[in-house]
Amino acid sequence: MPQWNCGCDNCRLARSGDARVLPRTQDAIAVRARGDRVLLVNASPDVLRQIERSPELHPRAARDTPVAAIALTNGDLDHVLGLLSLRESQPLTVLATARVRAGLVERNAMLRTLARTPDQIAWRALPIGQEVAVPDVGVGVTAVAVAGKLPVHLVGVLAPSPEDNVALRVRDLETGRVLLVATAVGSLDGVERLLEGADAVLFDGTFWSEDELPAQGLGRGRARDMAHVPIGGPDGSLRRLATWGGRRVYTHVNNTNPVLREGSAERAAVERAGCEIAFDGMEVAL
Ligand SMILES: [Zn+2]
Repeated sequence: MPQWNCGCDNCRLARSGDARVLPRTQDAIAVRARGDRVLLVNASPDVLRQIERSPELHPRAARDTPVAAIALTNGDLDHVLGLLSLRESQPLTVLATARVRAGLVERNAMLRTLARTPDQIAWRALPIGQEVAVPDVGVGVTAVAVAGKLPVHLVGVLAPSPEDNVALRVRDLETGRVLLVATAVGSLDGVERLLEGADAVLFDGTFWSEDELPAQGLGRGRARDMAHVPIGGPDGSLRRLATWGGRRVYTHVNNTNPVLREGSAERAAVERAGCEIAFDGMEVAL
């Protein structure tokens, strides 16, 4: 926010420095338990800026990174393009479902830049429903299949699979506390089960309404067609999240979404329900 080629109300306000709309980088999450090693959830196209702005993510030696692993929720470009920026011969551990990995590596010669040396990239399988421990960070990561869709560039190339899009339950191995990351949710069926046992959730806040883009003259795509349930409306996520007890933060918010504008009716509705809108540098302590 703003999006480089967008002149919608939000983007114009953000560009003009209006205090109601904070500029934001693309959604990205760094998880830390009690050590100083970090798990990244997704690698956004803004990952280099995000690392520079976060002292916890700076190197502590001549060649070093506190990033112990990167867990991917799907293969969408806004979640994986940052992998290409994290090359510089840095060994990386990437957790992904077999399908997400296949879509990235087998079909994309550019990703081979992350495999210049045999030990550069360590893929760790993220089977649905099985916790994978990341001991360096002190967390376990469990993928949960969530209604989603293939990344646009893989439609017609790979057959759809439940592994295309997952939510991640990130569990502190010592305290057992759970952060649920669900940045792309195409259906609210079973959402209560998804939230069960979590202490906080970062939830899909892409769109406020089903017809947000067409209504602003920005294309024909409807929210659910893009595998994002809208926040608002009788069938939206806010109604379902409103009664849940944990900390609730909307993330992955599209630049067109009126919740980004402080003082808007939509923002007020989110806050009345006790939910929050993510911003750069936000900390969620469990
Ligand atoms: Zn815009």
